Amino acid sequence: MTHQQELQTQLDAEILVPAQWPGRASQAAPPPLPRSVPRPVPVPVPVQPGHRFLIYKQDPSVTELGARLTYIPTVVLNGPMDVRVQTELQGVTPVARNISGDFVFTPGTPQFDCAHTFAVVRETIAMYERHNGGVPIPFAWNVGGNTERITVFPHAAEGANAFYTRTAKALKFLFFTPKGQPPSNVLFTCQSLDIVAHETGHAILDGLKPGWLSADAPPQTGGLHESFGDITAIFLALAQPDQADALVSLTKANLHDRSFLAELAEQFGKALGMPSGLRNADNDLKLSEVGNEVHAISQVFTGAVYDILADLYTFELSRQQRTKDAAVVLIETASALCKLVFDAIVASPATGARYVDVANKMLQASANRGDPAVYRTFIRNRFAVREITTAATPLRDLMSGQMAMTEAAYTGDGQDVTEVEPHDENSASLLASQDRSRCCGTMQMPEYQVIPEEKLARGGSLEDDDILRSQLDELRSTFS
Ligand SMILES: [Zn+2]
Repeated sequence: MTHQQELQTQLDAEILVPAQWPGRASQAAPPPLPRSVPRPVPVPVPVQPGHRFLIYKQDPSVTELGARLTYIPTVVLNGPMDVRVQTELQGVTPVARNISGDFVFTPGTPQFDCAHTFAVVRETIAMYERHNGGVPIPFAWNVGGNTERITVFPHAAEGANAFYTRTAKALKFLFFTPKGQPPSNVLFTCQSLDIVAHETGHAILDGLKPGWLSADAPPQTGGLHESFGDITAIFLALAQPDQADALVSLTKANLHDRSFLAELAEQFGKALGMPSGLRNADNDLKLSEVGNEVHAISQVFTGAVYDILADLYTFELSRQQRTKDAAVVLIETASALCKLVFDAIVASPATGARYVDVANKMLQASANRGDPAVYRTFIRNRFAVREITTAATPLRDLMSGQMAMTEAAYTGDGQDVTEVEPHDENSASLLASQDRSRCCGTMQMPEYQVIPEEKLARGGSLEDDDILRSQLDELRSTFS
């Protein structure tokens, strides 16, 4: 081969051979590959690390939901403890996070109970903070720059009860062995999401309205406190997508079907021989049927709110079912109603609030935010049929099952009014003394019975001596 031929061969080899020349392709050397520079695209990370908690979604007896992981997106230290909440269980706390920063423990252990109780309290607080525009809600003692936490006692003492106490700045969950059960079958009230959410609701409402827990107030004011706890449990369940989805499937999107949502504190109720939980939000009680017994009075308000929720869901589902999943519609509807109740409570009087006050504030808040008129029709109807308010919208269509549930502008032949009157100004639920004998432990606390309403309403910490004040004053004058 001449030098010229050699050069030509080299040149031929370097020419890029087009694909349609298969005969030449085998002779061509592969083109040099571009050298890759290793520069991975950065992954966006959460602004702050959160934690996984294993919790009971309802309570140990509600097996269709069981125990599942939940995500707490804020910083939680060993305890568990964060900026608002700390946990206390002698010999067990502080409970430490695992290597991944998570609080995952075996159900039935005290560590699990600490993690579960903390997580449910934290989620309840977070839900109301969302409705408060992301602004933290003070506990009753958080005045004048005080930032003291609330302390959660998952196994506070033996007893079939649970309570919130401002004096101890604490939520206390008791435990007991139900009658007829072997001593090993201990029922821990902290293991119920409903009970923990209920008591946390008392703490939050005492921060918002420090005068409302006073036993000097009308029975309806006490009823608002007790009901707020139950409503909190319902709204907290519906703020959790897996619970909302399970509920929609279980009930075929009918909230009046029997379910874990309306039945509150199921395990506790069964232990006391009550087949539908300790309370049933889907009830038909009217004010004329409950006298001055605060727990029953609370069920009237809870029942009205539950019925409004079911009405709104029927309306919103028919309006949105072609564009949204039924569980998503339920989560959004419940959140919108929770916000309405929250705003109405914030706007209600500082002392002696009545159901009609909250109902009117709900009507006004609904109109102000531009809800369809049928929202107000549902609210007016459900409070009127419970004998809480006068009926501005005729109840004829509701009572005969002719309500136009899917018509946005429906007001019957009534008007879209946002101010109604109490049904009966002489109701025992307004005028009598509060009978708190069947309420939860919070309402039984002496601090709310003997400390004067105006002192409670000012907010701030309470001391044991505040409870004994009148007796101390008496002693002082005796000893002087
Ligand atoms: Zn209560």
